[in-house]
Amino acid sequence: MKNYVLSNTRDSKKEYKKVINQTCSAIVKSINSEKSYAGPTPQELKEIVKQETILPENGLGYEKTFEKIKDKVLPNLLRPSSSDYMAHLHGASLLETLSSELIISTFNQSMDSWDQSPVATEIEVETINELCKLYGYDSLADGVFTSGGSQSNQTAIILARDWFCNEVLNHDVKKFGLPANFSKLKMYTSEISHFSMEKSAHILGMGYESVVKVPVDSKMKMDIAALKDLIQKDKDAGNIPYLIVGTVGTTDFGSIDDLVELSKVASENNMWLHADAAYGSGVILSDKYKNRVAGFELCDSITVDFHKMFLMPISCSAVLVKDAKDFEALTIHADYLNRTEDEEDGYTNLVDKSLQTTRRFDALKVWTSFQVRGKDGWAKLINTSMENAQYLYKKLCEDENYDVITEPEISSVVFRYVDKSLSDEENDTLNKKIRRTLIHQCGTIIGQTVSDGKVYLKFTLLNPLITSDKLGELLALIKILAKM
Ligand SMILES: *Cc1c(COP(=O)(O)O)cnc(C)c1O
Repeated sequence: MKNYVLSNTRDSKKEYKKVINQTCSAIVKSINSEKSYAGPTPQELKEIVKQETILPENGLGYEKTFEKIKDKVLPNLLRPSSSDYMAHLHGASLLETLSSELIISTFNQSMDSWDQSPVATEIEVETINELCKLYGYDSLADGVFTSGGSQSNQTAIILARDWFCNEVLNHDVKKFGLPANFSKLKMYTSEISHFSMEKSAHILGMGYESVVKVPVDSKMKMDIAALKDLIQKDKDAGNIPYLIVGTVGTTDFGSIDDLVELSKVASENNMWLHADAAYGSGVILSDKYKNRVAGFELCDSITVDFHKMFLMPISCSAVLVKDAKDFEALTIHADYLNRTEDEEDGYTNLVDKSLQTTRRFDALKVWTSFQVRGKDGWAKLINTSMENAQYLYKKLCEDENYDVITEPEISSVVFRYVDKSLSDEENDTLNKKIRRTLIHQCGTIIGQTVSDGKVYLKFTLLNPLITSDKLGELLALIKILAKM
């Protein structure tokens, strides 16, 4: 390649276009079937990618290297936009957001300070304001884009801890670190909440033991009576409850904790309430089902993931906070980056709210896609995904060979094939085998999890291209595989 980067010369523009167009053609050509995966096993892939070095003495040049990409990489990539991919909360990318991605990486704005992202900063601010409105917050609220739901949750837990220590314990964590009685601090979340709770508790120096797991009811929602009981018992034992995390869409089942009830418990006990809506945040855009996620406005903070239900490329997530003042926990000034005089003169430095410093301009994807689709377009997308799950649940319930755990509230259905002549363990093995065969022989990827000690399969139906016919065919295929 003659040019290093895209500049204002005619030559570099020509080369940029050539590279991008060539990439585009190769991508389109590589998608040669509806399957989500070509099928190689881990061992076969190791063979395919094996080479002496990826850092040769003399560069191979772009054309030769790109041939390898076409040959080894593109055909073996997972295709999450295939309607045969329904394993995880990770999915297709809406077309308009791919255009945004090209702009994001070509211009490479960094969202930490205004002088690295002038208009991008203003777009993120505007997008965050719209999101705060969407989730029912008023003008005191604020938020920031993050690398994902895990980071959004961690940010919220930091803000909750700092608020509690400052306001209730009268202890400045930012300055002095954790209070002496830190091991008494407890957060409460359901036993099936996301593992980023424990991970964050550990990273923040409070440890797994600070996370109290509250049992769930038969619908996989946090048991509120049990929560009240646990908080009271902890208080009686001298512990200090500071945070409740409700999950809006559990990772496995899509079950939704009752935010309205949780907010009553939180305010009675002077605790922070965080909603982890990494999965379920999309439901707010459904005209038909948004009442299922009532109560966001009662929470002190909310995790919203756009790379799940919202079908945007990774990464794209935000954490919203009811009272912007709480972000102070993350603000620290550096003379080389975010001077206080900037703020006074109207230059916004978003690093003041973020765990990251250098950060992507992910907000552009939301800003674009919200306008492209509008409320009506979004409602259609979200409704399709939720109604597919309702259809699948009904089909599974009608068939005595299937055991389904709970009625889906969003778009995930957890079930297991049961051969009544086999033991539980044998059925575990059978279900695992079905999933592996689907991957390597059928190019279809579905999820697997464990509930009540038994292996279950999982359909996560985010893709709007999935139809009821498709689901019917898959169930029939699973039956055939089960009998093989
Ligand atoms: C996926 C998920 C997360 C983590 O989000 P990432 O974007 O993967 O970091 C957190 N909570 C819930 C409920 C999730 O489903």
